[in-house]
Amino acid sequence: MNHDRSHALFSRAQQLLPGGVNSPVRAFKSVGGEPFFVQRADGPYLYDVDGNRHIDYVGSWGPMIVGHNHPAVRAAVEKAIGDGLSFGAPCPAEVTMAETITRLVPSCEMVRMVNSGTEATLSAIRLARGATGRQRIVKFEGCYHGHGDSFLVKAGSGMLTLGVPTSPGVPAGLSELTATLSYNDFEGATRLFEEIGHEIAALIIEPVVGNANCIPPREGYLQHLRELCTKHGALLIFDEVMTGFRVALGGAQAHYGITPDLTTFGKIIGGGMPVGAYGGRRELMLQIAPAGPIYQAGTLSGNPVAMAAGLAMLELVQAPGFHERLSEATASLCEGLESAAREAGVPVTTNRVGAMFGLFFTDQKVETYAQATACDIAAFNRFFHAMLERGVFLAPSAYEAGFLSSAHDAAVIAATIEAARGAFGAVAR
Ligand code: PLP
Repeated sequence: MNHDRSHALFSRAQQLLPGGVNSPVRAFKSVGGEPFFVQRADGPYLYDVDGNRHIDYVGSWGPMIVGHNHPAVRAAVEKAIGDGLSFGAPCPAEVTMAETITRLVPSCEMVRMVNSGTEATLSAIRLARGATGRQRIVKFEGCYHGHGDSFLVKAGSGMLTLGVPTSPGVPAGLSELTATLSYNDFEGATRLFEEIGHEIAALIIEPVVGNANCIPPREGYLQHLRELCTKHGALLIFDEVMTGFRVALGGAQAHYGITPDLTTFGKIIGGGMPVGAYGGRRELMLQIAPAGPIYQAGTLSGNPVAMAAGLAMLELVQAPGFHERLSEATASLCEGLESAAREAGVPVTTNRVGAMFGLFFTDQKVETYAQATACDIAAFNRFFHAMLERGVFLAPSAYEAGFLSSAHDAAVIAATIEAARGAFGAVAR
């Protein structure tokens, strides 16, 4: 593959953008090499500026569940832009969006639209703190909730690590308020709540971890957290920015049958435009300004073009059997990858929930963050590049979930598995 134009663009970009990118993982730092620059995207494919075609399992990090450049989403956006780009006053599509979200995710009786997943989680935490009058929050090792200060707290391997900032710039006084737990550890959560439960405003969790590769909850784990939060008067926040409308139409909460107090969304609800949202029980949401005293606002929130894109996408994912078909496609991809790895003698296991999956270079079933980080990362990095050479783009990090779209048909999956045969062979050598 020729990458001359991408290389030239990356050289220019590095002079002007920190690391040459506008979001860190795009820079290929953990896998090595340089990113390609995308000219256009269609269905399951990205086309780079050098004319190379890539089967895409990143899907813009989640939104593109109906494939890139879907004609119905594009048409909705084109229609919306004919009426103007931003009004700064209420518009009808915001109401339709709120009706759609609250119908599909019944734990959300009211919602507030924002512009990113980060804004959604920041706002949900502020609401939780304001509503409970408590300050501490709990998050999980390996869970990512955007780049808000309170979430950039390093997770320790023990039950509880208090106050170690991951990023310079996060005030210690704030990070001390974030406690971290090991995902899928029942006992650790129980102990933490026994110790400081009365001080906890909220526990926030990716119900299926998608930011430490892909780790589903153990049987009963989310229920256990629900019970702890209820018992100790803390709010349970499901961060469904990634899982929402992806692992099931009603998100992970529908898939596992757990009702959180608050939910955060992003990605799919924007159809590829910059959108986030948070929602929950009416009495909680009524505490948000201007209905209540907890302040949160946005110049472009509820933007008409973004609402049109998101609504068009949410319409498509409601087609009967949509998620079942995606789940089956994801299963066939994972089985194909595992069998290709076996043929090459490379130890690999997979996890999947709905249309998200993880590929681990280990012979173990991965259920914890510690297991995910103990995998053979060097082997993943070799596999990543071997796949890229064969026209398949996986997330450029061993710690990201993969995403399928409805445009990934049987032929695309078969082509991916064929590429994987060669790529696993290259890893084994
Ligand atoms: N929450 C989760 C679970 C995410 O995966 C992400 C982003 O990947 C975010 C929050 C932050 O969303 P955004 O990047 O739109 O700010």
